[in-house]
Amino acid sequence: MRDREGRPLVVGTGIAGLYVALRCRELGLHPTLITKARLEEANTRYAQGGIAAAIGADDSPSRHLRDTLRAGAGLVDRAAAKALTSEAPARIADLVRYGVPFDTIEGQIALGREAAHSRARILHAGGDATGLSIEETLKRRVLDAGIEVRERTALRALEPSGRGGVVAIVSSDRGRSFEKWETYAVVLATGGAGSLYRQSSNPSVATGEGTAIAFRAGALLTDMEFIQFHPTVFWREGAPRYLITEAVRGEGAVLRNEAGERFLVGQHRDAELAPRDIVARAVEREIERTGHPCVYLDATGIPRDRFFARFPSVCRFLATYGLDPSRDWIPVTPVAHYMMGGVTTDLEGRTSLRGVYACGEVAATGVHGANRLASNSLLEGLVFGERVARQLVHPVPGRVPTPGRLVRFRWPPGSGRADLPKAFERVQDILWEDVGIVRTGKGLRTALRELGELGRKTEPPSGGAPPGPVANAVLTAALIARSALTRTESRGAHYRSDFPHRRPEWRLHVGIVRAGPPARGF
Ligand SMILES: Cc1cc2nc3c(=O)[nH]c(=O)nc-3n(C[C@H](O)[C@H](O)[C@H](O)COP(=O)(O)OP(=O)(O)OC[C@H]3O[C@@H](n4cnc5c(N)ncnc54)[C@H](O)[C@@H]3O)c2cc1C
Repeated sequence: MRDREGRPLVVGTGIAGLYVALRCRELGLHPTLITKARLEEANTRYAQGGIAAAIGADDSPSRHLRDTLRAGAGLVDRAAAKALTSEAPARIADLVRYGVPFDTIEGQIALGREAAHSRARILHAGGDATGLSIEETLKRRVLDAGIEVRERTALRALEPSGRGGVVAIVSSDRGRSFEKWETYAVVLATGGAGSLYRQSSNPSVATGEGTAIAFRAGALLTDMEFIQFHPTVFWREGAPRYLITEAVRGEGAVLRNEAGERFLVGQHRDAELAPRDIVARAVEREIERTGHPCVYLDATGIPRDRFFARFPSVCRFLATYGLDPSRDWIPVTPVAHYMMGGVTTDLEGRTSLRGVYACGEVAATGVHGANRLASNSLLEGLVFGERVARQLVHPVPGRVPTPGRLVRFRWPPGSGRADLPKAFERVQDILWEDVGIVRTGKGLRTALRELGELGRKTEPPSGGAPPGPVANAVLTAALIARSALTRTESRGAHYRSDFPHRRPEWRLHVGIVRAGPPARGF
């Protein structure tokens, strides 16, 4: 056991983990950062559109709050969203202080427009390379600050320590050897779970490991049924699923079917700028109705120079497929993109496990409700990262919210004998087919049964080595399916064709926790 008593352990090196570590250091702590891959590999790196903050002359945090509440389909936690939107300008100032080169027009930060935002409030950098700029800037700062970073070091399990702290079990040798680190605080910043789906915009590290690890330790999770699907990801047989940012529609691009019809007009008053879930379902329906494998993003109405200046990475990508957006329509399809739920936290990032905090995409702070407003997620990592850092220095009391409906979910030990690559592929197919954009009770039950069977092979026997990434993938997939089966209505990103309407009695959060005795010692 390595005693790291005074050193918080921050897990994950996306925007949330890097920012928490930096702020902890500035506040006088000595954090250790670990990440299971290379330092810079995270969802954050791929974010294109930008980061939302009400800094424009015609904008205000209360307007940003209103838009966030509206997108979240009745389930946004108002206090959390108020913190998010009102603290956004200060967190942007931090990024500027760290050196993030936001794009400017005549010396002022340039602001873009995105779907469901009533004002232009999206800051971007390098045109559409916002995530990359943030990741690289924060990474440089972390290294300059001398923060201890361990790459290719994965969190595998959390246990309470006898001394009131936390024991983190980490592996740094592709799972062959384990170390136990004892500390007073572990910060989960492990990101989302998009890669559990066959079709996804996420990099391969996004497999929901943090949620599985926290669940096994006894943590409460909420809103796991709400997975956001992005409506416009490049489609071509065999091509990578490259995201075409929503900001392209914000600049005036429209969606057309193969026949050239704008199928969103008449479906929603904001047409292509309607909330993501509505656009994603409309695209999915159009693909099904026409039998054509994709729809098209038509950006030919945007002046060429403007498009190329604002979206240089998108243009470079399209050029490799011989497409010029000022001339050609872009083939697109919806894919899994973002996890709204996760490990339940209070406003200070505290989870239901003592000494365990969460921020960024892995956390369920309540700011997104049933549907995240575009460009609020990078922001969430900063706002709640700041709150976690302060909490680690000056703790204030608080309590994790209680969900309106609690599911106790049994996930027993297994044989630990499975063909792991095959099991992971099966997870991706199950989620895409039965826990996707349109769900049914029958499909969800089938998914759960199959995931349970997989879990009996991937989950290690009790007393064995801690579960690895595939066991975590299977468990997180099952948590999504179980939560989706519980919610017998359609709301935000969760759509069930057997319960196609929103039901007032479901204006509550679904929580899910391990069945059996409560987590001891935490
Ligand atoms: C293509 C794309 C475009 C996007 N565009 C935007 C946008 O324009 N605006 C916006 O606001 N959001 C956008 N998003 C969403 C946003 O990028 C993410 O929600 C955000 O970056 C999440 O940050 P994070 O720090 O929580 O997690 P991540 O950036 O995903 O980082 C998670 C980290 O945890 C590590 N990790 C995971 N499990 C373990 C483990 N067991 N042990 C150790 N380390 C572990 C990973 O390796 C990684 O370093 C986009 C996402 C994608 C994929």
